[in-house]
Amino acid sequence: MRSDRPSRDELAFFRDLGFRDLYIDRAGPETAALVPGALTDLPALSRFLEGCPRCKLSRGRTHIVFGQGNPKADLMFVGEAPGHEEDVQGLAFVGRAGQLLTRIIEAMGRKREDVFICNVLKCRPPNNRNPEPDEVASCIPFLEEQIRLIAPRVIVTLGTFAAQAVLGTDEPIGRLRGRWRSARGVRIMPTFHPAFLLRSPERKKDVWEDMKLVRDFLASEKS
Ligand code: URA
Repeated sequence: MRSDRPSRDELAFFRDLGFRDLYIDRAGPETAALVPGALTDLPALSRFLEGCPRCKLSRGRTHIVFGQGNPKADLMFVGEAPGHEEDVQGLAFVGRAGQLLTRIIEAMGRKREDVFICNVLKCRPPNNRNPEPDEVASCIPFLEEQIRLIAPRVIVTLGTFAAQAVLGTDEPIGRLRGRWRSARGVRIMPTFHPAFLLRSPERKKDVWEDMKLVRDFLASEKS
């Protein structure tokens, strides 16, 4: 394997050419390929992501936000990407939108610890801009592995971006929300993002209708 330090011969070669300064462009650590199905649990997947340099968001992040909750949850919530507070704390949905998400989960008769909460992107985009296609392409295999390892009965996608990324569609959220879909053998319920509800509280009733469908489906599955 090639070391990233130049050999004595290489240094002599550049010296003989008259160079006095040498700048080494560090490409960053080699990234091991994620082999679907190879990792056995969420902690192993989280360790695999440590120090991830796979896309440009790695350069601006404080923490990778893997997601948190019950590793065997029957219900998973998937948002877009960490915001400022999530980046600082390394936890998904802990800012204002996250507090509203907690209230939604509790209104369903659940606790946050019972469900699993994560995002499509694990690193914060600068100024909370929309995720870019190369960032999604780098990160979505990790969400797919989270879904495989948790094997939830239902995934609730929060907002346009998560619904479109998980379902592989470009349909608008207005058409997607409130209707069961499926992806990777899991039932998907797209709904509005809690950050959107903070701006448009009159749409909370729509989300509540969607969450009642989820709650009732999960209750009927248990009996
Ligand atoms: N918005 C998201 O989509 N995810 C978070 O974790 C926080 C805000």
